Amino acid sequence: MYRRHDKAFHQTMWAALRANGTWAGEVWNRRKNGEVFPELQTVSSVRNEAGKVTHYVAVFADLSEIRQAQQAAEHLSWRDALTGLANRALFLKRLEQTLGNAQREGRFTAVLLLNLDRFKNINEARGLAAGDALLKAVADSLGQILHADDVLARLDSDEFAVLLPRLELSLDGAGRAALIVAEKLRTALRETIETGGEAVHLDASIGVALFPASAQETASDELRQADTAMHQAKAEGGGRAVFFESGMGETVKARYELERELRHAIDNRQLRLYLQPQVDAAARQVGAEALVRWEHPERGLVLPGAFIPLAEASDLIVAVDRWMLSEVCRLLARLENEGQVLRIAVNVSPRHFSRPDFVDEVKRQLDASGANPSRLVLEVTEGLVIGDVADVVAKMTTLTTLGLHFSMDDFGTGYSSLSYLKRLPIHELKIDKSFIDDVPTNLNDVALVETILAVAHHLHLQVVAEGVENEAQAEFLKARGTVIYQGYLYGRPEPVEAWLARLHASTASA
Ligand code: C2E
Ligand code: CA
Ligand code: CA
Repeated sequence: MYRRHDKAFHQTMWAALRANGTWAGEVWNRRKNGEVFPELQTVSSVRNEAGKVTHYVAVFADLSEIRQAQQAAEHLSWRDALTGLANRALFLKRLEQTLGNAQREGRFTAVLLLNLDRFKNINEARGLAAGDALLKAVADSLGQILHADDVLARLDSDEFAVLLPRLELSLDGAGRAALIVAEKLRTALRETIETGGEAVHLDASIGVALFPASAQETASDELRQADTAMHQAKAEGGGRAVFFESGMGETVKARYELERELRHAIDNRQLRLYLQPQVDAAARQVGAEALVRWEHPERGLVLPGAFIPLAEASDLIVAVDRWMLSEVCRLLARLENEGQVLRIAVNVSPRHFSRPDFVDEVKRQLDASGANPSRLVLEVTEGLVIGDVADVVAKMTTLTTLGLHFSMDDFGTGYSSLSYLKRLPIHELKIDKSFIDDVPTNLNDVALVETILAVAHHLHLQVVAEGVENEAQAEFLKARGTVIYQGYLYGRPEPVEAWLARLHASTASA
């Protein structure tokens, strides 16, 4: 017997032989060529008439073939025979592991269930063999675009599943990751897939389940959810990805799509410059605030509330702000040429302002357009000062030296601290619409507006009151000092052409 067995092994064997007269078990043996192989050995004791053991008979059977068959069987039970991908059992096992990790770590990921659109037709038209070849080709091209540790499985005839094992910090992040993968999968299918000398273009319905939503969910729950969503995608006409449970997934998806479209909006000239008049106590226009609009080919005119917060979550806001700044500079140059003495205020988001090249960019835009810097107002928010105050002051000072002014937007809504305010070279406070809304009826707001006016007076700052909609609000402000008025009472934001036309009409009549 080959020396892979220890003393205990032999003791057990002899004990069995003495007790039962027979022993069977697996032993290792070595072939003449040196190869070690597993062997099934049966040892029986042979006794004489007196009942005394005279010798032992051992029967050996080579187990390697059985082993190979066993491994093949195991492979079969974890693998899809046609494509060699993971099968449902293996997929569920991996999903279970990932789900467990996600629940433990409080992180998130997704499972995608993909069903080919119109595969049945192809199968019926070209025959089963062609269908099988196509499924193999699909498995190959899907496999190529996935990350090495993503799990791709074939669950059913034309149904594939993808598990993303890398965990994200937020449900949002998991949703994004899933959408990116869903898009890649669909792109791979839409590209030419060659099979049997024929080119096929496919598409798929994809159901996405983000998880974990709870600590009780099981792997088959996730798969069922993805399946429900996939059927929803089919019902909507196929060629799309749908999230299970519209509540969480669909908002992520809508935001993701909007963000992607917004990236192209600037290149596709879909952003519009709108202007809203700012007037003095005699209702004479002294300037305007520049407000962005997005003219979306399908959605129509999109208001900033629907895309600025989204843009602010990424560097997209910088592109939007830059576009607005250059449009405003061009407008200012035009007004200057026409002899109009008006100021234009433009919103600058903190992310844009904090760019190291912000000052240079403003200078460049002013130079390129020939705009008069003293007519440009940059509206900034208190959010700016969370960062490096010294840097903020330095940038503002440089720009103020050029002649332009800073206005503190949404004043009073943040953590306005007077000490901060004193350090910043600003020129103006904008009282937020939310405070103006309920004056003069709400006494709290009355007190707040009065305080802001007092602060402004104390710091020698100009004041703009935003969102003035009725005479009562206007009268209230008029009685308390000199302010600039902005609101529907004087004019709504309108496209730059319309705003210019109105301006020209009023200067002609004056
Ligand atoms: P904001 O800077 O506080 O702008 C004032 C908002 O109040 C504008 O909304 C304006 O249309 C609205 N408004 C003014 N007067 C009245 C009124 O009397 N009644 C009512 N109901 N509303 C009034 P809008 O244009 O939808 O802009 C919303 C916000 O989007 C802006 O608030 C600003 O924070 C942001 N935003 C707009 N354009 C830009 C931009 O070019 N860049 C950046 N970073 N943000 C922008
Ligand atoms: Ca503003
Ligand atoms: Ca505001």
